[in-house]
Amino acid sequence: MTVYDELVGQEPVIEQLRAAAAAGAEALAGTGGGGMTHAWLFTGPPGSGRSVAARAFAAALLCPDQGCGHCASCHQVLSGSHADVEVVRPAGLSYGVRETRELVLRAASSPTGGRWRIVLFEDADRSTEQAANALLKAIEEPPARTVWLLCAPSPDDLVVTIRSRCRLVTLRTPPARAVAEVLVLREGIDPDVAAAAARAAQGHVGRAKRLATDEQARRRRAEVLAVPGRLSGVGPAVEAAEALVKAAEAEAKELGASLDAEETAAMRQALGESAKGRMPRGTAGALKELEDRQKSRTTRMKRDALDRALLDLASYYRDLLVVQLGAGVDLVNADRERELRSVSGPPEATLRRLEAIMVCRERLGANVNPQLAVEAMAMALRTG
Ligand SMILES: [Zn+2]
Repeated sequence: MTVYDELVGQEPVIEQLRAAAAAGAEALAGTGGGGMTHAWLFTGPPGSGRSVAARAFAAALLCPDQGCGHCASCHQVLSGSHADVEVVRPAGLSYGVRETRELVLRAASSPTGGRWRIVLFEDADRSTEQAANALLKAIEEPPARTVWLLCAPSPDDLVVTIRSRCRLVTLRTPPARAVAEVLVLREGIDPDVAAAAARAAQGHVGRAKRLATDEQARRRRAEVLAVPGRLSGVGPAVEAAEALVKAAEAEAKELGASLDAEETAAMRQALGESAKGRMPRGTAGALKELEDRQKSRTTRMKRDALDRALLDLASYYRDLLVVQLGAGVDLVNADRERELRSVSGPPEATLRRLEAIMVCRERLGANVNPQLAVEAMAMALRTG
């Protein structure tokens, strides 16, 4: 076992990180020619394992054996409890300048374990412009023992000044075959179920697992894929749009509520909650701050859930295009092949529908009201 075991279908990245961890060890020992690179940017599509890769690399840098996966240091990093690794996970839609300045200060202190102080910044693309500037200064002149691991969907999601100072680690969409294999070997899932879930999840490992094991996730996905068949008129199209938004909101609420409850309970205990559930004086502010963060996380989760639903919908039209053009590639929704073959219409209309979905995703990214954006998309899907 090694720290890289959780990465699926990313062999080139693992090789790159192994070499980098070796170079890091040489830099610490004062041997070897090159110095340490202090800023790294991990990019890859959602679900490909950007933060998994960054965490594995952090473990490899701090492990005396460059990532054995079983020493105390590796365990601490992988479980999120190592004193020299700070994981930043922006809860809301953006990460502010005040938080970033504090982070930069903390990042500059010496590592307690004598190796590196590592900041793993998930969703670094959510930094505000001012926050990015504060970050840039830290990356331009890094303390000798500080290493920044930034994660973002693509290099374009970060300002060029930051991007150009980072070494890139580029994850790919893992092949469905590799995802299915992991589901079978690690989760004990039936091979046929695993194969279908891996294809449907389009390379998103976590989602593949949910689809293979969670009946509700499968049902929600089936509802999304039923949308194209429900666009018989303006009324039904509006209804379908409403159903899409509501389903995404329900999913996010459900996921968010369980996270919130756990966090709140942990926070109340940490702040000294009495056996009767009373809080000490002066703790209301901290609890309020947590509540605000949770609210903004739920907003983000709603948006993410809706985006996933739109990607599922896009996969339907993508498959339709494959059938219409007679391209001999695998269907994402192989279980719907018969239905897809019965749909009539020119491929040009399918392309326009795909375009409408992408426009909707962009508008949601720009914070347009979800109901309005999805309704407009449904209308465009109806007319084709
Ligand atoms: Zn180790």
